[in-house]
Order: sequence, then C-alpha cells, then structure tokens
Amino acid sequence: MSQIVVIGSCGVDFTTYAPRLPKPGETLIGSKFTTSYGGKGANQCVAAAKLGGKTSMICRLGNDQWGDKYRDNLEQVGVDTTYVKITPNVTTGIAQISVAESGENQIVIVPGANNCLSKEDVKNSADLITNAEVLIGQLETPYETTLEAFKLGKGIKLLNAAPARSDIKEILPYCSILCVNEPEASLITNTEFDMKNAVAILKQLLDTGCESVIITLGPEGAVYMSRIDQQPIHVFSERVNAIDTTGAGDAFVGALATYLVTYKDKPMHQIIGAACQVATMSVTKEGTQTSYPRKFDAFKKEY
Ligand code: ATP
Repeated sequence: MSQIVVIGSCGVDFTTYAPRLPKPGETLIGSKFTTSYGGKGANQCVAAAKLGGKTSMICRLGNDQWGDKYRDNLEQVGVDTTYVKITPNVTTGIAQISVAESGENQIVIVPGANNCLSKEDVKNSADLITNAEVLIGQLETPYETTLEAFKLGKGIKLLNAAPARSDIKEILPYCSILCVNEPEASLITNTEFDMKNAVAILKQLLDTGCESVIITLGPEGAVYMSRIDQQPIHVFSERVNAIDTTGAGDAFVGALATYLVTYKDKPMHQIIGAACQVATMSVTKEGTQTSYPRKFDAFKKEY
C-alpha cells in the first residue's frame, strides 16, 4: 500500500513562445514550442515520488495519444498507477499556453478526462484511500469527488485549495492541513492577504474547521498555524535567482507529504522548511515536473 495517495488532475501543457501575444484572428510566428506534463495532482505526486515517497495516483486520462504516455511518465518516477484510468471518448486534460517576450501569457485549459474523475473512482480505490498515511487533493477535478475521498481518508488529509474558489466550506473540516497561496487565502477569507494581517487570516482559516493551515508566500517562504497551539510560524525561503516558478506550489505540497511520512519525529517548522527548500530548488530550473529535485538530505540545513 502507498503511503501517499494523490487524487487529482493530470494535464499536458503545450506552450508556444512568441514576441508578443496574438490579437484576435491574428497568426504569429513563434520562436519555441514545448510539451510538458503538468496538472496539479500529477505534479504533486511526481514531486513526492522523486523525493522517495511511496505514491499512488487516482486520476483519469483520455484515450488519445497522451493517455498512455502520461501513465508511462508517472510510472517512470515510480508512481503506482493502478487507479490511473484511461477513459473512452474523452481527451486527456490539456493546457494551451502562449507566452510573450514580456512574460505575459494566455492560457486555455480543456479539462477533458479530469472532469470524469467520479465518486465511483473513490469507491473503487477506497482501500487505498483509507490506508493512506497522507491523502492529497486539489480543486482541478470535480469537488464532490475530492470531498468524498476526504470523508473516507483516515490519515493526514492535505488539501491544496487551488485553483482558487470560495465554495469549499464542506470539505474544510475534513482537512488536517489546508495549504493555499496568498490569493487563495484571500478568496476563502474574503480578506486581502498582507503580512500585517497574516495571523488574523491564519486564524480565520482555522475557524473554517481545518486542523492546521499553511499559506505559501512565494519568495517569502510560508506561514503555518495549527489549531492545537495557535502559534504562528514563519519559515523563510532561501533567496535565489528564480527562472521559472511554474509548479512551485505543487513541489511544496508533494515534498511536504513525503517529509511528513518519512520524518515523523521532526517538528512542523523543519518539515515546512525542507518543503520550502524543494520548492525553491524547483524555481531555479525551467519546467515543472522536470525541475523537481530527486531525493537529497533536506535536513542538513537548520530551519
Ligand atoms: P504556483 O502556482 O507557481 O505553483 P503557488 O502560488 O502555489 O505557486 P508560491 O507561494 O508562489 O506557490 O510558492 C510555493 C513555494 O515555492 C514557496 O513557499 C517557496 O518555498 C517557493 N518559491 C516560490 N517562488 C519563489 C522564489 N521566487 N524564490 C524562492 N522560493 C520561491
């Protein structure tokens, strides 16, 4: 049985780079094209697996040319794919991304098979979910499905409430850890996040019923508060030259899960510090899953 079970999305990112974004109806000649594996669920699972976590993924892929390739990609990093289902008559989730030289982008996402992840999938993988030491969910696949899984999970239930939405009240009391970035924290609490009101926002998020909260702060690291002692903790990230921050939040979530199961005796600020270190390493390289580090001694440093 896997220690870390991720229920969520997979997507293939098709990215074109051009001097500027095209106007409606315009055709532009671009300079570069890349294809990469993404989707928050799969990113988090791959991040955990690359660090040595024993992982399983519960997801849906389409029966197009990308379904089997994506499953192979997961297997190559050691993810158990027993519950990765290729779904007939639907395409694999994709994101079509255009990036201008200015860094401005335009994105069209087609969820495809991700929208087919159902309560039936949760029922079929119930054994895996109930035995998971850490169950991870996000909001790129149907909310009702994630909710059903979180009701079933008995270990640590880690919700990365992304992409941002506010109508998730029912799932929050089932969360051991709610992990959000600043805009997500602002949307859920209906309060603009600012370091000055970080403690108030952490408390507001705890009031939703979850056991603990992490807010990731990009280059500023992350803040944490648990219901037990309500003491805020701020863990700082190392200053680096960020090249590509795509998927940094997912690297953080995957690393957090691996370190929670591998280092049960470590205090939470050290676990979060190590997860920040992994996410920070990922922003120094291009790409998403390819930028995530392999297993290394993340606790050599003091946090
Ligand atoms: P994304 O949507 O790009 O996946 P996110 O908004 O969910 O990211 P962030 O809060 O931006 O998540 O970043 C998550 C973690 O990644 C941070 O806690 C930090 O450890 C690391 N990180 C992100 N950006 C930087 C940066 N510029 N420098 C150093 N570390 C960074």
